[in-house]
Amino acid sequence: MPTATFTAPSTARPDTDAVIVGAGMSGLYQLLKLRELGLRTVVFEAGDDIGGTWYWNRYPGARCDIESMTYSYSFSPELDQEWVWSERYASQPEILRYLHHVADRFALRPDITLRTRVTRAVYDETARWWEVSTDTGQRLTTRFLIMASGCSTVPKGPEVPGVEEFAGPVHHTARWPREGVEFAGRRVAVIGTGASGVQCVPLIARRAAELTVFQRTPVYALPALNRPLTDAEVTARKAEYPEFRAAQRRSKGGSVLAMPTRSALEVTAEERHARYEAAWSEGVLSAVLRSYTDLLADARANETAAEFVRGKIRSTVADPATAELLSPRTYPFGTKRPCLDTGYYATFNLPHVRLVDLKSTPLVEITAKGVRTAEEEHPADVLVLATGFDSMTGALTTIDLVGRGGVTLREKWARGPVTYLGLGCAGFPNLFTVTGPLSPSVLTNMAVSIEQHVEWITDCVRFLRDGELTEIEGTAEAERAWVAHAAEVAGRTLYPTAESWYTGANVPGKPRGFLAYPGGADVYRERCDAVARDGYAGFTIT
Ligand code: NAP
Repeated sequence: MPTATFTAPSTARPDTDAVIVGAGMSGLYQLLKLRELGLRTVVFEAGDDIGGTWYWNRYPGARCDIESMTYSYSFSPELDQEWVWSERYASQPEILRYLHHVADRFALRPDITLRTRVTRAVYDETARWWEVSTDTGQRLTTRFLIMASGCSTVPKGPEVPGVEEFAGPVHHTARWPREGVEFAGRRVAVIGTGASGVQCVPLIARRAAELTVFQRTPVYALPALNRPLTDAEVTARKAEYPEFRAAQRRSKGGSVLAMPTRSALEVTAEERHARYEAAWSEGVLSAVLRSYTDLLADARANETAAEFVRGKIRSTVADPATAELLSPRTYPFGTKRPCLDTGYYATFNLPHVRLVDLKSTPLVEITAKGVRTAEEEHPADVLVLATGFDSMTGALTTIDLVGRGGVTLREKWARGPVTYLGLGCAGFPNLFTVTGPLSPSVLTNMAVSIEQHVEWITDCVRFLRDGELTEIEGTAEAERAWVAHAAEVAGRTLYPTAESWYTGANVPGKPRGFLAYPGGADVYRERCDAVARDGYAGFTIT
């Protein structure tokens, strides 16, 4: 275990104690916690409302793929008791209402400045504080800079010329207009079939005159089986919430779920099929993957589950050629994030819906009239880009974060993110990243991982304050060891074999590497706690 080193404190005082970037789920909770410490805290939020992911992604069908009574804050037993979720899987508007309720209940709004994007932050090595600049011309100095800027924040487009030439409206799913989009009687083109595409396609199909879906890589989508929650279910969960929340915090992925004990290869094909059928009918994103211990570690085991899902696609989609195009064959099941769908595959049985395979006929350009592939021009009146994000690192590298010696985070991460525990990095003192790269983050229930990071950061800040310490920074040695450990754990899985946003492969030119920590939220939490218990081992403290 690395050890911490200490030097003398500084006495100067910056304009504020902490700046938090982002007023989504992480930023709101971080504000609350720093306030409890009595810190002067300012939150900057680029949007004109709070909510982060749940503010920006308001396309039709946007919905969480973790159950609502699991994907919510756990820090307040009173909040757990008073808020009532209406559906098994909450829709984006309901989650946004919940976050508004949290902001009001804990009186968070006065410290949040909306419509203000942090564009640059420079570390002053003499004063030992950050100078933060915004797009509204504000500049202020702060001891701590906490990036609560999210994992999927910076949208990316289809990387072909001509989007600006398109004559009709163009909407990215992550920048959906508040007033909605009229599809009735229109010819709609949707590019992208990840979680956002899978959720919006069935709803757009209900209204559009024609819908063309452009698919580069098919996904494995499982049925959500969403429905209203019954009063009895809500009451039962509320009665056991304290134990349930505690179990979530101890769990591998932030949800309380049965874990497998056997290999897929040690049972008969019939037994496996029955197990997969039972898992399929749970309507839980990870249920099939949790059927056996080795589905994310052994390609042969994985193929049994992959083929099961393909069988479901074949039995849903009437046209065998379309079913085959929708069937993933180029990467193992679960190595790109699977989707939870409501009627996605069945949508392709509708006569006005067409699937275009961009692997055999690549996207060439967007024209004024539609989408041109290598084979033909597909006319459209409305263009929907469900093309995803520069995930995990984009929100951090698009800001000019300038650390020691004038080195930017962009430069430091030119060959991929280098972090200590995904919480911070060498050369960037007092900069914390909530659910940062190489932490479990997107592989877990984000609500639980966010709380774990926010609480760890808060404890760390308390430790510094109580000890009259000014500066904390991961050491280069500790972060090298963490990066190597994260890569080694990822290397034991099938994850790196897929071209996905988990590895940076979705953004042309982005360095490849597995961007999250797949060792389990339980193991990771223990590691973070041990670091803190050992006086912040692996950090230099000044
Ligand atoms: P995504 O998973 O990255 O999907 C983007 C889609 O656009 C993919 O099909 C991708 O194809 C395609 N695409 C990207 N660039 C393209 C190009 N240049 N040409 C053609 N096709 C292109 O993004 P997302 O659907 O927005 O989802 C991102 C993540 O957000 C999810 O994995 C999930 O973690 C989260 N999310 C969650 C929910 C939920 O809770 N239910 C809903 C939405 C999003 P390739 O696969 O070939 O790259």
